[in-house]
Amino acid sequence: MFSTKMTVFLVLLLQSCIVLASDPDPLHDYCIPIPEFSSIFPSCKNSSLVTVEDFVYSGIKNPGDFKNTGFASIPVNSAVFPGLHTLGMSFVRADFEAGGINVPHYHPRATETAFVLEGRVYSGFVDSSNRVFARVLEKGEVMVFPRGLVHFQMNVGDSPASILGSFNSQNPGSVKIPNVMFGSSIKEEVLMKAFGLNDKEVHKLRKRFVPQ
Ligand code: MN
Repeated sequence: MFSTKMTVFLVLLLQSCIVLASDPDPLHDYCIPIPEFSSIFPSCKNSSLVTVEDFVYSGIKNPGDFKNTGFASIPVNSAVFPGLHTLGMSFVRADFEAGGINVPHYHPRATETAFVLEGRVYSGFVDSSNRVFARVLEKGEVMVFPRGLVHFQMNVGDSPASILGSFNSQNPGSVKIPNVMFGSSIKEEVLMKAFGLNDKEVHKLRKRFVPQ
């Protein structure tokens, strides 16, 4: 029989594991979801039906569609690339026109490493004390953005730039600060008080960020 102390210790240990855990450990070598089961816990395809094509993704050969911020990204998570399912990782291709920006955002479920494939990219994040860690990265350099912290990138070269971001979650999520503030239906008065804006200024920002 375990002593009470031992039981408490084990419970605490178990809890700390749960708190520290990112995506859960896989139970199989791989689990290619059966397409018709699109729930959070889909069934795996029978391994005899799995082919090499389930482990290959060809959708990031070219840049995605550029937004008016001069930025194009193709997130490749388990929803887009089922081969990643249960493997605890995913990635993104991002391309910048000269001067293009990846607006301040954070990933609630993953730390990101961003590797500069081409160009010069001013990159940084802000910690929970509002301290900024930022500098220009050259081609071949990589920066880490800790999980849940706001980060941003801007092409400061005069030619296009590209990065490859990697995440330690199959579904990192992405919360864009301008959009979550002004592209959502947060009550206007809250935004006015929070940002010290008048109603005209709030309307202007809302117009810019509410999805058309
Ligand atoms: Mn990011």
